[in-house]
Order: sequence, then C-alpha cells, then structure tokens
Amino acid sequence: MSYRVPFVDAAAHFRSMQSELLDAMTTSLLRGNLIMRDELKDFENSMARFVGTQYAVGVNSGTDAVHFALRAGGIQPGDEVITVSHGCIATVSAIVHAGARPVLVDVAEDCNMAMGRVAAAITPRTRAIVPVHLNGRSCDMARLTKIAQQHNLVVIEDASHALGAEFCGRQVGSFGMAGCFSLYPFKMLGACGDGGLVVTNDRYLARQVSVLRDYGQDRQTGEILCFGFNSRLDNIQAALLSVKLPYVPKWILRRREIAARYHDGLRSIPGLTLPHFSGDEYVDVYMNYCIRTSRRDELFRYLVDHSIEPLTPLSVVTPVHQHKALQLDHVSLPVTERIAKEFLYLPIHPELTDDQIDHVIACINGFYGTDNKVASSR
Ligand SMILES: *Cc1c(COP(=O)(O)O)cnc(C)c1O
Repeated sequence: MSYRVPFVDAAAHFRSMQSELLDAMTTSLLRGNLIMRDELKDFENSMARFVGTQYAVGVNSGTDAVHFALRAGGIQPGDEVITVSHGCIATVSAIVHAGARPVLVDVAEDCNMAMGRVAAAITPRTRAIVPVHLNGRSCDMARLTKIAQQHNLVVIEDASHALGAEFCGRQVGSFGMAGCFSLYPFKMLGACGDGGLVVTNDRYLARQVSVLRDYGQDRQTGEILCFGFNSRLDNIQAALLSVKLPYVPKWILRRREIAARYHDGLRSIPGLTLPHFSGDEYVDVYMNYCIRTSRRDELFRYLVDHSIEPLTPLSVVTPVHQHKALQLDHVSLPVTERIAKEFLYLPIHPELTDDQIDHVIACINGFYGTDNKVASSR
C-alpha cells in the first residue's frame, strides 16, 4: 500500500544523495576496501568530531554498541543496571547480554527516565545507569550525572534516537563514560543496512570495544585478548555514512521545522498532548514526533483511512516489563504503562513536503472536529 504521507521514504532519501552515495561505494569497491579499512577510520574520526568526543568505534548495531560499552565499562555478571521500560527492547537485551540484571524505572511526561525514580532503584549491586534519550530529546543529564557521581556509577548513554540532540550546549553521547548510537537505516543517521557506534573519551574503553567487535583480537599483534564477537561496521556502510553525515545538521533543522509546523496546527486540540516540552537547556531533534491521546487506536485507524501512515511499534505498545517471556513483570510503572496506551508517532522524516504535513494536520483536526488555519484554508 502506498500512502500519501508515508512514515518514512527510503527511496526519496536515497535519491536526494544518489550520485554521491554510488560514487563513494564504487570508490571503496574499486580500492578493494571492504573490512576495517580507511573508510571506517575516516567515518569514526568524523563521528567523534561531530559528537565532541575523542574516540568513536563502529560496530554492527546499536544493540552491540550498548552491549560492548557495558562490558568495556567494567559491568560484570550479577551487577544491576538501571534503565527504562519505555524505550527499545534492544537496550534491555544488551544489559542482559553483558551478564547484568536490568532494573527498570518509570519515565516522566517527556517519555525519558524519571530522575526522581533513579535514586530509589539504587542498591549495593547497582553498577551502571543507561539513560535512553527517547524520540530525539536528551535526558536531564545534569541530574543524572550528579546521581551517578554520588553513587559511583558508570553512565552509558543510549543515544540511538538522538544524534545531534543537546543538553546545556553539549551533544548527547558525550556525557557518559560512553555514548551509543544505532545506525539502523531509519535512525537520525542511517546506513543502508545495520550499523552502530560507541563514542567515548576513555582510551581504554575505545580499545576494548574495538577488540570485542573483532573476535577479541589485537589486529596489530594478532594476540587474542578475550573471547570476542564479530560485530564490525562494514567499510562500505562507513563510506556511505560519511557521505550522509554532513547532511545531519540540515536534516535536524528540517525535523525541527516540521515539529514547529505540527505544533502550530495541532496545539489547540483539547485532549492531544504534543511533544513540546519546556527547558532552555534542551535542543530536541525530533527523531519521532510523539503525540498522545486516550483515543489513540481510533485516531490511528482514521489516519490510515486518510492515506497517512502513523506508527505505534508493537514492541513499545507493550512496555518491556510487560512482555511475559522476559519475566520482568514484577514491576509496576504507571507512567510507562499509561504512555504505552496513548502514544502515536506522526511521520516526520526530512523528505516530507509542507503539503504532506498540512494534510496530516488537517486530518487530525478533522478527526477531532476542530478547526485551524490550515484546515479552514482548504
Ligand atoms: C534502534 C535502537 C536500538 C537498537 O539499535 P540496532 O541498531 O537496531 O541494534 C537501541 N536503542 C534504541 C533507543 C534504539 O532506538
């Protein structure tokens, strides 16, 4: 089915950079550069500069980025790691793969970790906190850093939703001992397949991650330093990502523009919560435009009927702690559970036209029987 307003448009995205991407790929192929070559090093250096850290290490996915960062950060079997249930299952899986026990805390109204809940979740076994900067908005890293320092905890940021987002003038990923990014095709910066990245200022951690991703070996000496994994970021993906990275600031501006347009067109609808949260310290990048309503399922169907493709990922509709097979269902997280019933993502990719955005605005106003400038001008 093809929508008038698709949730994402991978083909339009590719067309906007087609010749540059194909050139970069051809160059790598003609050089025979496929694994762990210059293109990967160049991309890692550019990413470290972009985020504002000393090191960046490419891996095969955001899941492995979190997993390896935790291991390299010294998390041991039996340790407890605090994170959220409203987020991505991959974050919690990565904690389990590192041998640790995930401790899930509730979120606040902005869908991010409720800092007031963190201190109460700390026990003598707690070793780390993994904040998830959801939907393109940073967590309150001032409060989180303070809590972590008071209790001597490692902070590993899951910044997979938020490349380029800022808190107090600093980019997410640069606050913790390490920052983790997914380069999955539909994230802020997406490969043409899977990819991930760990950024850090800690030389030892960067080295450990690069050993873990490559069979546990030291590439220079051939010495095996641990039982590792195979999770390299392919050279060709790195070359493609290097073409795309310079566009990220422009894409962020466009996402912020679209968010402002949605805000203008939707803000007077009673019963609809929009993702515009206060705080001068924050620069939000709107990875998702997450609206909330008690009539979510009805609105979802209405939008689909009007050729708009919203998204409510099923793995988020049921929060992590309520997936029975994971046996984490001993906790009750009221805000997480309420948001899960109410949230809906509107299309917000940078290739959207103003006409498409206005169609979404008009339809939502139509659903609520409300009127606005855009709707009435049609
Ligand atoms: C996408 C995502 C991941 C997982 O990344 P993959 O590259 O798909 O492994 C982890 N955490 C968050 C917050 C994500 O959005």
